[in-house]
Amino acid sequence: MQNRVISKKDLAGFVDDLIKTKAAGEVIGIKAKDDKFNFGTLKNAAELRLDYDIALLPPKKYFFPQIETVLKYEFGATPKVEPVVDDKAMCLVGVHPFDIRGILLFDAVYGGANPDANLLMKRRNSTIIGVDCLTPNPKSFAASMGTAVTDEGFDLMLTDIGGDYFVTVGTTKGDSLIKKAKTRDATPADQEKRDKVRKDTLKKYQVTLKMKADEIPALLDANWESKVFNDKAATCFSCGSCVMVCPTCVCFDVQDDPALNLKGGERYRRWDGCMLTEFAKVASGENFREHKEQRFRHRMYRKGKYLLERYKYLGCVGCGRCAIACLAQIASPAETFNLIKEGK
Ligand code: SF4
Ligand code: SF4
Repeated sequence: MQNRVISKKDLAGFVDDLIKTKAAGEVIGIKAKDDKFNFGTLKNAAELRLDYDIALLPPKKYFFPQIETVLKYEFGATPKVEPVVDDKAMCLVGVHPFDIRGILLFDAVYGGANPDANLLMKRRNSTIIGVDCLTPNPKSFAASMGTAVTDEGFDLMLTDIGGDYFVTVGTTKGDSLIKKAKTRDATPADQEKRDKVRKDTLKKYQVTLKMKADEIPALLDANWESKVFNDKAATCFSCGSCVMVCPTCVCFDVQDDPALNLKGGERYRRWDGCMLTEFAKVASGENFREHKEQRFRHRMYRKGKYLLERYKYLGCVGCGRCAIACLAQIASPAETFNLIKEGK
């Protein structure tokens, strides 16, 4: 597969064609929302913003919706149970590398020993066109987490190299899509430009870890009793904002919604998160993490150790959304890991 170069004008034409022909399904991209950005269905290429810092919510919501019906049932002499699996195709345009790494974590969690039909169907039917983030949010620390650039998880990856985009082709699906656009072969000089843009962008990250990302598990292992967890959690509202905006939070709760006529109903799942008071409460009334300090510490261990041990990815991609969303300004894992490292 040959990497390509496409002019900004021709990229707009390419996106308009994707929207018009639906060759890769519904086209979803980054749109401005007042002074912020979010993913939404694109009506035309003019709506697409590839120069953004961060989307309010990560693209995981398209694979793992906030609320999703997973089955419908009918009572009666012969009860019926029908799984509900959404199989519509979609093409996500403008996904940042750290959000792609978040999606790869979902693949590892829900595609492994206990495959999740709903998530896997959406992943199979999706196309991902990524874009390198050249204007990192001031709270982001993706460079320290090694997620500012990715070489996997996309069909096509765009890098703004000035007047044009460098197009890294990741899959045969991406290859056949971009072949329909007006492009030219990428030269070694174009690739050098792309690599330089990426290298220069790493220097723009304002938050940095005071350790290598792969040292975080050992740091946590040695600091279960650290007072940083208590100090930080002292002002926590247990609002759950940090976990609701996180591209790597994979937890959900399952609930039933019986119809009023009691002839049947629906079962759905909805996002849940370990910073919420009830998350670890069980039927007997016991709450395994009753205190906010315990929940705060648990979240940090999920991000920096537990998920890595079970799957191959750290549970934090350094996007910075939790730090942006947290009213108490305590949620950034980078800040907590740094304070522990400094022995504060
Ligand atoms: S923990 Fe925070 S910085 Fe890390 S991936 Fe989640 S939202 Fe992003
Ligand atoms: S850390 Fe911040 S965002 Fe998370 S639950 Fe506590 S107050 Fe809410």
